Amino acid sequence: MTVETGLADSFGRRITYLRMSVTDRCDLRCRYCMSEQMQFLPRRDLLSFDELARIAERFVARGIRRIRLTGGEPLSRAGLPVLAARIGGLLGEGGLQELTLTTNGMRLGDHARALFDAGVRRINVSLDSLRADRFRAIARRDGLETVLRGIDEGCAAGLAIKINMVVLKGVNDDEVASMVDWCGAQGHDLSLIETMPLGHVDDRRVDQYVALDTVRDALASRFTLVPSAYRTGGSPRYYEVRETGRRLGLITPMSNNFCDGCNRIRLTVDGRLYMCLGHDDQIDLKSAYRDGGVAALDSAIDAALGAKPLRHTFRIGAGAGPALDRHMSVTGG
Ligand code: SAM
Ligand code: SF4
Repeated sequence: MTVETGLADSFGRRITYLRMSVTDRCDLRCRYCMSEQMQFLPRRDLLSFDELARIAERFVARGIRRIRLTGGEPLSRAGLPVLAARIGGLLGEGGLQELTLTTNGMRLGDHARALFDAGVRRINVSLDSLRADRFRAIARRDGLETVLRGIDEGCAAGLAIKINMVVLKGVNDDEVASMVDWCGAQGHDLSLIETMPLGHVDDRRVDQYVALDTVRDALASRFTLVPSAYRTGGSPRYYEVRETGRRLGLITPMSNNFCDGCNRIRLTVDGRLYMCLGHDDQIDLKSAYRDGGVAALDSAIDAALGAKPLRHTFRIGAGAGPALDRHMSVTGG
């Protein structure tokens, strides 16, 4: 595939990373992510696999080098590995360099091998607790054993797995050290995430927010954390955990803004391109593509990049509602 131009925003940041949400639906209901009575997009509004694949192809031709499939729960969209295989066909020199996926792991056991065959080599699995009762309390569904089996199947298929854990005060913040131990024993890297004020949920986020620097300081009494220069094109600051030999990432959108180095844009499954997780501005790529084909798609992408904001302005405070009505499950993570 020939690269026609690189993509850059008006602040000179090169945009090389696309997160594609392939569904906003999910088989769990994590309390920090969505409410039990979540309203999902009507199916008639969704991009087809063919449209998603063609849009991905155009983005790669324009300079996108990494694509992450996300959601909602990406593996809850029927036939997802078929789409992964089509996008995986863009992998190669001068084209896509990496295809990854973020999943809750519930259906990983069924699809791990097909994902590997599609060209996926690294995935993120969200796991907020290793205790079945807590898993159920956070996700509002049972699933710990299924997820752990899925992780085993993923490893057996050859996928490198990073665990994502949203740290919540009074909910799972006493489990971080055991998660570091468990990840070390299983051979997984771990990223800790601060809860973000996206969308209405049933709990008060201010009650659950923990700044990760305090978590890191507590971990430092048990583990030797060596700052690392490692970067994935994502946003975490990384440490090497000397005792386990694995990496620990801190994703700190609230306490330590990392927007300066932002290299990403996000496509929702109904075809809206968001330039920033923390802003509502978006461009309707679906209509552009359906009405005007590739030329209109290119113009819409250019307009979107010109409008990418410098940074988000999230705040969690007493009495503050969500920063945006849009849930994380719409744009994916
Ligand atoms: N369903 C998949 C999963 O859970 O991995 C992919 C989508 S989920 C929206 C992507 C990531 O966002 C997960 O790691 C999840 O824990 C995280 N997440 C969801 N809502 C969040 C919030 N309000 N603040 C911070 N992280 C959030
Ligand atoms: Fe579903 Fe992922 Fe949101 Fe949990 S975090 S409800 S698994 S989309």
